[in-house]
Amino acid sequence: MTDRAAALAAIAQRVRVCTLCRLYQGATNPVPGAGDSYAEIVFVGEGPGQNEDRQGLPFVGRSGEYLNYLLNLINLKREQVFITNVVKHRPPDNRDPLPDEIAACKPYLDEQLALIDPAVIVTLGRFSMALFFPKDARITKIHGHPLRANERIYYPLFHPAAVLRNPNLRPAMEADFKRIPELVAEISRSSKSDDSPPPPPPQQLSLF
Ligand code: URA
Repeated sequence: MTDRAAALAAIAQRVRVCTLCRLYQGATNPVPGAGDSYAEIVFVGEGPGQNEDRQGLPFVGRSGEYLNYLLNLINLKREQVFITNVVKHRPPDNRDPLPDEIAACKPYLDEQLALIDPAVIVTLGRFSMALFFPKDARITKIHGHPLRANERIYYPLFHPAAVLRNPNLRPAMEADFKRIPELVAEISRSSKSDDSPPPPPPQQLSLF
């Protein structure tokens, strides 16, 4: 195991015993995240659902099947990216995560992102988007609009579950998704090298 993978595993271990918010009480398994510790792309969803809670892995239910389909459109397998969520334990009955739960879990995500230092962070859905984009950003307006900051790209997309619920969103989701390789290439071309220090933790960014 590389140092980086070991450091990610150490975060996952802290998530496993985390009691910083109430969500651990109703969860079967924590879902810290999974994938390549050297991934150029990190996907950040909302929170585990029933299937994820059972298996301890992100996006393994219907949304996950659709995410696999989307990844396949750009010739990627999920092992080549890193997939995680805003909250790492399942909210009861799949309710929205509450502000204090999101705040309690955010340091884990910040640490994961600092370690992996991806070229592109793809936010899936509005809760993930809200961590990086201005409070008044609307996903229907900004989906597919990359934001360049901290020597990386933040890329807001619809949540796969929202697309499954509303198939009218499918063409936009798939067109947005197909731009991901171009965004990765843009960052690889510009400044990243293994020796460059990791960027500061992402805070609230301004749009465009
Ligand atoms: N929805 C999410 O936001 N995350 C998952 O891991 C699964 C479904």
